[in-house]
Amino acid sequence: MQAQLGGLTEKLSDDNIYEIPYRLRDYAADMIEKPVYLDESAVVREARKHFQAVANELNLYLVAHGKRPLGYGKLKIKALDEPDLKDMKGGGMSTVLGLYKPGTDELCLNRWLIYNIPLLKDVLRHELAHHYQDEGEIIEGYLKQYGEARGVPIIEDEADMLAAEMKEYKPLVDKRFVSYN
Ligand SMILES: [Zn+2]
Repeated sequence: MQAQLGGLTEKLSDDNIYEIPYRLRDYAADMIEKPVYLDESAVVREARKHFQAVANELNLYLVAHGKRPLGYGKLKIKALDEPDLKDMKGGGMSTVLGLYKPGTDELCLNRWLIYNIPLLKDVLRHELAHHYQDEGEIIEGYLKQYGEARGVPIIEDEADMLAAEMKEYKPLVDKRFVSYN
């Protein structure tokens, strides 16, 4: 039996169907390059602790859906500052939780997120979804096709959907065959 996994062909043994998700998990984790952390703020240090787990969720989801896992070597993570918001309409420092700047690979995080780690992880998921859209030129494509007023809401909806899906995605496993460490 063979399965196509993101361009790779893996041989699967017929007697252990549970092999697949675990190989996927290892594969997705192996592919993660480290992002660059641009400052030593508390929120960036906290993001660094959780980055691998969140990026692994996304890559696992992508690989399991026949897509290429993302490398994160180009990504730059920093604390959100006033100048980061200069091109944004309607959002201020108190309301913008995170920001991804297409074309620059910069991901900015609101400093208050250190007080809510589950929310920090949700923001990371959403902004990594934008990084995925950016790498695949999906953002550019929507803006070209629909313009900014109609394109941005579509981009945001799709990022929210991908963030929710990567968070919920659990490969099919049977714990009897697996040991955890
Ligand atoms: Zn967004």
